[in-house]
Amino acid sequence: MHREIIEPFRIKSVEALRFTTEEERGEILRRARHNPFLIDADDVLIDLLTDSGTSAMSANQWGAIMTGDESYAGSRSFRRFEAVVHDIFGFRHVIPTHQGRAAEKIVCTLLCGPGKAIPNNCHFDTTRANIEYKGAEAVDLVHDRARDPDDEHPFKGDVDLDRLAAFLKERGRDRVPFGMVTITNNAGGGQPVSMKNLRGVSRLLREHGVPFLIDACRFAENAWFIKTREPGYADRTPLEIAREMFSLADGATMSLKKDGFGNIGGFLALNDGALAERARNVLILTEGFPTYGGMAGRDMEALAVGMREALDERYLEYRVATVRFLAEHLTEQGIAVVRPPGGHAVYLDARRFYPQIPPLEYPAQALVCELYRKGGVRGVEIGSVMFGLHPDGTESPARQELVRLALPRRVYTQAHILYVAETLGEMYAERAGVRGLRIVRQSPYLRHFTAEFEPL
Ligand SMILES: *Cc1c(COP(=O)(O)O)cnc(C)c1O
Repeated sequence: MHREIIEPFRIKSVEALRFTTEEERGEILRRARHNPFLIDADDVLIDLLTDSGTSAMSANQWGAIMTGDESYAGSRSFRRFEAVVHDIFGFRHVIPTHQGRAAEKIVCTLLCGPGKAIPNNCHFDTTRANIEYKGAEAVDLVHDRARDPDDEHPFKGDVDLDRLAAFLKERGRDRVPFGMVTITNNAGGGQPVSMKNLRGVSRLLREHGVPFLIDACRFAENAWFIKTREPGYADRTPLEIAREMFSLADGATMSLKKDGFGNIGGFLALNDGALAERARNVLILTEGFPTYGGMAGRDMEALAVGMREALDERYLEYRVATVRFLAEHLTEQGIAVVRPPGGHAVYLDARRFYPQIPPLEYPAQALVCELYRKGGVRGVEIGSVMFGLHPDGTESPARQELVRLALPRRVYTQAHILYVAETLGEMYAERAGVRGLRIVRQSPYLRHFTAEFEPL
């Protein structure tokens, strides 16, 4: 008999949602210049803008917060945090930072510079920006099948090992200070990377004497996909799988706002003692003393508990089932989504949703606006608004026009998710009348955060 996969928690503390009418939301949207980033969170019913820092903490995490040791040096809370990172990730040196990009910034400050290049499956925006800020090149070597939204391959985050081998041969060890793999591949649709592929990357980088860093933000979701999709791992626990993944690398950068159940937090972990010492010197300049970095003692306590909870099998089963549930309800209604659904978000294909809207009239932006107006749901445009403007001021269509619906961890119930699917179903039935937008104001960099639009 089929048994529903249920939320593996009960709710002790709740936050009321504020309901608005469609008419009110039309006015709010106008005031926000048709850019959902400019809408106040209180005016949003279901917020799927990001899964970063938006998780619900458990009663155990809140309890741990009260035990935080706020000592400047040698904090007990750091020792607890460090012990959990050692246990799961295994790296010798743990450098606490306020979030993931601070760890990236430290690594890039020490190792990047003009003429250098860093390979990855897909660099996340902050990683790319930190690398490019130091004058180095961020190179994406994800396998080609990641570019086909209908390809059902179970590990679409895998690196193309042939291209990595050619890249290493061409650039040589002196110009490649380190290599990375992002698990799961956020910029590539939250798609997982297989253990086999991680092993292949590790072998190639070691052959060339290039250190291997894992961008570990969604390591627990990646471990779950390995357990459920990769032959030979069904009987291993997510913790065992995580340890095996990290045993292949020399270090990791981590945003604990993802699979750490934190509202803030991160770390850099390294095996190389000399590099770790240099990293701590930069840490003191920009973040704080090495036993707190950019965090309060109470943050480290909550994260020490959160990292373990993220590896709980019941939680991971529910997490991935929720994403699949949303994707499947959309597919049933004829709505195109990137396949297969990944670990933290569903990506809608706005070109197929609104085929009447040309790319430079921003179909994905039109979709996020309609989704807010119709249902009070906030998603994010990942298309020509985000990627269409070039440094020389010219504009061209992005490769895809996507809308990302990211699911905060343990925050919404199945009824909330069903409501989102129903809202989109209604919008799909009425899709023919929807028009695109034009930009009336924008900034030259990262324009999607602040651009102002007008409906056509
Ligand atoms: C969120 C994220 C980062 C950056 O972490 P922040 O905590 O937002 O600074 C880096 N890489 C990936 C894959 C991410 O998802």
